[in-house]
Amino acid sequence: MKRVAIFGSTGSIGTTTLRIIRENPKLFSAVTLVAGKNVDLLIEQIKEFHPRHVYIQSVSHAKKLEKMFPKLDVYTGDWGIEMISKLEDADIAVSALVGIAGLKPTYNLLKHCKEVALANKEVLVTGGELIMKRARQYGTKLRTVDSEHSAIMQCLRGEKENEISKILLTASGGPFFDKEITDAITPKEALNHPTWKMGPKVTIDSATMMNKGFEVIEAHWLFGVPESKIQVVVHRQSLVHSMVQFKDGTIMANIGPKDMQIPIAYALNYPTRLENNIEPLDLFEVGTLKFEEPDLDKFECLKLAYKAISMGHSAQVVLNAADEIAVQAFLEGAINFTQIPKMIDWALSNHIIRKLYTVNEILDLDRTVRAECLRRI
Ligand code: MG
Repeated sequence: MKRVAIFGSTGSIGTTTLRIIRENPKLFSAVTLVAGKNVDLLIEQIKEFHPRHVYIQSVSHAKKLEKMFPKLDVYTGDWGIEMISKLEDADIAVSALVGIAGLKPTYNLLKHCKEVALANKEVLVTGGELIMKRARQYGTKLRTVDSEHSAIMQCLRGEKENEISKILLTASGGPFFDKEITDAITPKEALNHPTWKMGPKVTIDSATMMNKGFEVIEAHWLFGVPESKIQVVVHRQSLVHSMVQFKDGTIMANIGPKDMQIPIAYALNYPTRLENNIEPLDLFEVGTLKFEEPDLDKFECLKLAYKAISMGHSAQVVLNAADEIAVQAFLEGAINFTQIPKMIDWALSNHIIRKLYTVNEILDLDRTVRAECLRRI
């Protein structure tokens, strides 16, 4: 029985992870549940999964939980998240907190948990160098539940002897791939994603293709390849989840149904695949697979992500912070769609690369860049 800690249990990755645990009660149990504000859903999860430890952000919610479940170990506040990420009774932790808030707990987990499944992009985008070093230092197994990176990880199994020629990272292209990008794009249009239903920040990142840019950065750190060997391939159907090319020309591809349950289950039960109730792909129904090249002059955010990799780790922290402020400003109507990459480019151009040695240095830089961008807006 594998004991699972879920950091972000009430979000979409968290609830899908719990669905896998529910469907495989002999294989997994939920030992730790960490939630932000959704106390009602957390209460339901406690009743169903009987975790030993839980975290909820606000003190009043924590008091409510303590009253309802007297035997439960309840954590809250900044101190609480620090403590709960240092517990050692989970076999695997799923890191699915939203935003840069996930960085510090994940950094802690890498020391105190043998396996960590990453679902939070910001952890590698802002902490790439530190996170990879920490995992190596403690021999912690890093898994990924991002569908593209899970696909790459699967394509690389049994290929230790072979150097990667190219990672072919697939992208849906977002709502504007076949349309013109203009100043007139409204938040409503940008929030209308063709394939996935997600939160507003991720959906805008998908419209600018910054989301793919973040995934290029993730792939760079996870698989140790330079940006010149990572090619984004637009594949509107989202059935090929990513590919790896080797020096003899062979391309290994991971193809399957688009359902996040598959990569999450693969990370949880690695390397053994789990059965599920998902409709398998019917290739005759699919018929053809189509691939297109992204236009980096049109999707400037994607180009900026490549630039941030070539600049170095601290530039990636800047990229992430500037993007978050720019996307928020766009959603609030303070800037228009084409100003999102301009804001990020401005932040990158003003940044002097430096070495970041600790999580606190990363968080400091993040705060500074956010404040500078807000002033500029
Ligand atoms: Mg993805």
